[in-house]
Amino acid sequence: MNELRDEAVVLRSYRSGEADRVVVFWTRDHGKVRAIAKGVRKPTSKIGGGLTPLAHAEVYLLKGRGDLHIVRQVHHVERYSTLHADYDRITAGLALVEVVDAIPLDDVADDGIFTMLTRALGTLNTPEFFPELVPPAFFFKLLAHDGSEPQVGECVNCGSDGPLVSFDAEVGGALCDNCRSGRPLSADGLHLMRRILGGDLAGVLRDEHPAGAVEVKTLASEAIERHFGRRMNVGRASPIV
Ligand SMILES: [Zn+2]
Repeated sequence: MNELRDEAVVLRSYRSGEADRVVVFWTRDHGKVRAIAKGVRKPTSKIGGGLTPLAHAEVYLLKGRGDLHIVRQVHHVERYSTLHADYDRITAGLALVEVVDAIPLDDVADDGIFTMLTRALGTLNTPEFFPELVPPAFFFKLLAHDGSEPQVGECVNCGSDGPLVSFDAEVGGALCDNCRSGRPLSADGLHLMRRILGGDLAGVLRDEHPAGAVEVKTLASEAIERHFGRRMNVGRASPIV
């Protein structure tokens, strides 16, 4: 029997047939995996609760034909009860899985992404951290993981110390007045980006709404959309179905 056992986060799921659901997982050791949960929408199903987006579970899959496997068993690893009790935390979590789902590679293992995703979900599940800037910070980490971390220390074009007045996702960072392109960047926005990218994320997340937050959210969403070449819903609400 060809079984696949792995730790996984549910990125999304959708209905299939009368009682089935197709689930897209990001797994620790097998990258993105799709599997069908047969009969999961019947009231008698034993696996239904573990397959909503953001679920973090140990999964047992049977290898199917092609790339669609079959879900045999699901055991929760984390229930993220604080996250699931708060609409803003859920919305932020969905922005994370949407972006991971957009990573353009199938069945390529990347446990670095799995670790970043589960850590970010753990952060969203921590009451002392506000959720607003978790997705932008995660997007920056994902860009860094791909070797595209935004440069905010000096002008990304000429290396000048600044002042840095704009941010251009296409060029890959902040720019001085002579080189400016992209979006205007305020001193608050620049300071906040430097804190997030420079190792003070925990401090940033303890502030409910730090100065520059709206700007940084916009810049991070644009940067990640540009990186993956598609428009996303990042940071906007969508229901768990
Ligand atoms: Zn410059």
